[in-house]
Amino acid sequence: MTTSANVTWQEGVVERRQRWDSIGQRGATVWFTGLPASGKSTIAAAVEGELVRAGRVAYRLDGDNLRHGVCGDLGFTAADRDRNVRRTAEVARLFADAGLVALVSVVSPYAEARAFARDVHERDGLRFIEVYVNTPIEICVQRDPKGLYARAKAGELRGFTGVDDPYEPPRSPDVELCCLEVDVAVERVLDALDGPGGGAGDE
Ligand code: ADP
Repeated sequence: MTTSANVTWQEGVVERRQRWDSIGQRGATVWFTGLPASGKSTIAAAVEGELVRAGRVAYRLDGDNLRHGVCGDLGFTAADRDRNVRRTAEVARLFADAGLVALVSVVSPYAEARAFARDVHERDGLRFIEVYVNTPIEICVQRDPKGLYARAKAGELRGFTGVDDPYEPPRSPDVELCCLEVDVAVERVLDALDGPGGGAGDE
């Protein structure tokens, strides 16, 4: 999408197929959504580890990390959260188009923005696997590795997802992980990536 009438799409000289063949794999995006501290980043990092050890090209796009750079100008209002997810989706699409397995871990609390992320990929013929890290809020609050739930509950942090900002659970995620050990969660994700209808791996 562009808001300027004066930009034109510039074609390259190689097709996606050739790009993917050159690295021997197909691109895809795995999108981890869930409450803060549900385990998205931990599981995404473990999946990245497995893929890279197996000789695959994968890259994590962690919500917090992106907020240090490409999304560094955005806050946590509903509009900014929406922009954050949409921008992240566009970046992931580029990685997948390049042939990488993009591993996105971002709270992405609103269903509409997640639907946008899927749509951006599928319209472009790219696989999009939504992984719902469905850890009950009580466990997330107990873990609270960054102390953010405690600060939100103390009123020091406003608009925190799960405390005073909503999380809209996915209705039909491709994978749902409910309190699994990390290595089991990783297996489920890899099965979805490489299983029937998958084949994002080596060819
Ligand atoms: P998120 O990215 O969803 O905010 P993080 O991965 O940053 O969550 O934090 C989750 C915390 O929970 C980490 O400290 C992690 O070590 C811990 N944890 C404990 N058990 C699990 C599990 N089974 N899966 C994922 N994380 C777990």
